[in-house]
Amino acid sequence: SEENITLLTSNASSGKIGELEDDTISYFIKKKLRVWCKQPRGHWELGTIRSSSGEEASVLLSNGKVMKVARSELLPANPDILDGVDDLIKLSYLNEPSVLHNLKFRYSKEIIYSKAGPILIALNPFKDLQIYGNDHVSGYGQKFSDSHHVYALADAAYNDMIKDELNQSIIISGESGSGKTETAKIVIQYLAALGGGNCGIENEILQTNCILEAFGNAKTSRNENSSRFGRLIEIHFSSMGKICRAKSRVVQLGSSERSYHIFYQLCAGASSGLKERLNLRSVSDYKYLNQSDCMTICNVDDAKKFQQLTKALDTVRICEDDQELIFKMLAAILWLGNISFQVIDSENHIEVVDDVAVTSAALLMGCSSQELMAALSTRKTQSGDGTVVKRSTLQQAIDTRDATAKFIYSSLFEWLVEQLNNSLEVGEKCTGKSISILDIYGFESLKDYESDGIDWTKIDFEDNQECLDLFEKKPLGLLSLLDKESILPKASDLTLANKLKQHLDANPCFKGQRGRAFSVRHYTGEVLYDTNGFLEMNRDILPSDSLQLLSSCNCELLQFCSKMFSESQGQSNFLHTVALDSQKQGVGTKFKGQLFKLIHQLESTKPHFICCIRPNNKQLPGIYEEDLVLQQLRCCGVLEAARISRVGYPTRMTHQEFSRRYGFLLSEATVSQDPLSISVSVLQQFHIPFEMYQVGYTKLYLRAQQIGTLEDKRKQVL
Ligand code: ADP
Ligand code: MG
Repeated sequence: SEENITLLTSNASSGKIGELEDDTISYFIKKKLRVWCKQPRGHWELGTIRSSSGEEASVLLSNGKVMKVARSELLPANPDILDGVDDLIKLSYLNEPSVLHNLKFRYSKEIIYSKAGPILIALNPFKDLQIYGNDHVSGYGQKFSDSHHVYALADAAYNDMIKDELNQSIIISGESGSGKTETAKIVIQYLAALGGGNCGIENEILQTNCILEAFGNAKTSRNENSSRFGRLIEIHFSSMGKICRAKSRVVQLGSSERSYHIFYQLCAGASSGLKERLNLRSVSDYKYLNQSDCMTICNVDDAKKFQQLTKALDTVRICEDDQELIFKMLAAILWLGNISFQVIDSENHIEVVDDVAVTSAALLMGCSSQELMAALSTRKTQSGDGTVVKRSTLQQAIDTRDATAKFIYSSLFEWLVEQLNNSLEVGEKCTGKSISILDIYGFESLKDYESDGIDWTKIDFEDNQECLDLFEKKPLGLLSLLDKESILPKASDLTLANKLKQHLDANPCFKGQRGRAFSVRHYTGEVLYDTNGFLEMNRDILPSDSLQLLSSCNCELLQFCSKMFSESQGQSNFLHTVALDSQKQGVGTKFKGQLFKLIHQLESTKPHFICCIRPNNKQLPGIYEEDLVLQQLRCCGVLEAARISRVGYPTRMTHQEFSRRYGFLLSEATVSQDPLSISVSVLQQFHIPFEMYQVGYTKLYLRAQQIGTLEDKRKQVL
């Protein structure tokens, strides 16, 4: 019964039965309550305890077998009336098998969304569920309390933005293939429907996705459409709540087994005229494409995708000339990859083989074959008596060729993002606030410096002014120190780390660590950073000869980008790393600084969390692999979040916000006008019990549902 459940919950919310009193065991036996029983292979089965003596218990499993186990291998299971609850915090027992079971129960009914306190859990269905689209959008304003959905979360973010006049963020985490990018698209679709006017910006935003996917996504073994870049999408609203601007910030571009979709689409879909102008061949003729054994993706028609892409480019007003320029650069990259070298002496020096690859690449880039060959086969070095030109070795030439190709691609990508951002600005003034959506590929690969996911214990009572100061204070904040250090000629990662430690140690959010490392207490928990690579990303990874060549090319885009590149030396906002091949560039380390700034930017927003889960590795519907799910739930800290929010104070408001919103409800004016006194008077007048709130220095913390009571009163009065 209800009473018994509460009785047990109070002391057994997650504990093992084995750690409990003997009378609990007797109680479980007497009432035939379900338990989880650990099996030799590690998974958990439901059963009931038949008897127990000492440290051992005899359990009747649901499959009819009887098993003797140590008491420590038993966990309390929830009564079956709780099967499939929509929020994990409603479970009487919050242990791992119960959570796994609950999500599995829902997944088997194709309910992919659940809550764990503040977090929305999204299990990838790997099939079209018919729960999105306009019919569903319109319903979500009202009915989201009973069924969870990304729409409901997006709706909450939008409403909080309007109500609190505060920027919001939606942080989507999860492994590759778990559904982050799809979820981000669904969020955008919802916000576009909600905040769209009649200028059609919502359609343009959605078309932008299609373009960025073509250029930034590639097939991997885990995900056929894996984003190889991290993206922060900022949607800005007018004070009327209409979208006035959408901006993407791209933070990293990585590598994968197949190259970016766009290359295959171009080769498959270019018209014969375009093919001729670009001297374009088929996928199998290009080394950058044919080295992977998968040149096509089943069920994907690259040619058709190319038509869609050009349509999307039209929609966002990228003119035909610019489109031609984009395709030219892509073809130049492909031809660059085909350039080969011949070793001419015993020291491995080379000369460039003068063939169709060189002439085509040079023509497309807008330079002469001679210039291109010189840049690839020689390098200038400074010596006492001036510049010396040296012939490159084979490895040097290959590296230069690939770095040049990567540079062109990253420049192209950066340029494209810029064009898209420009086109997504409508006349209306952005007087309101924004919602940022973070979809970062490889949150999983950040583990090395993210101590252990999000530490939910820290979320509640935190005021992050100190952390903001840590970053922004001038002249001695983290960002100024980073920028200053990166223009010093002799600076290294170690000198940077030492400077940071020297100047920032007094800030409680900063902790110097051994060697080049330090940690910062963000609202998402403590993050360990290694300065390795922080400065590197400001330095030239492209030989200066190649850069010079690119800036002298008769090509607008290359000139623009090499100029931008030179200017960005000393700042850390340029996208440097792009990899057409694997690992060589140590991609992992280079984006750290960019990501670092990005996490910081989110400090001043109100976060909403979505944790995406990939239920199987086969990318197939209906398969729920418990081990795999568990590992991801642990990684996102889902259980902790649910536990904490059960005991925690999910609502936080500053005294100002609170008094402004509810102060007018006071029946008698208080003598004092300060926000704190007003807030406390409101709490007293409406008999909010003491244990339901905490008063902090700057904020009030309220337990679940308390704010609802006050909101109801407010609505009655208004
Ligand atoms: P991630 O960005 O986390 O790597 P994606 O968002 O690209 O993963 O999702 C991988 C694939 O999973 C998608 O291509 C799609 O087939 C499927 N998928 C993800 N989320 C959904 C969803 N909500 N509904 C249907 N299919 C989905
Ligand atoms: Mg993705």
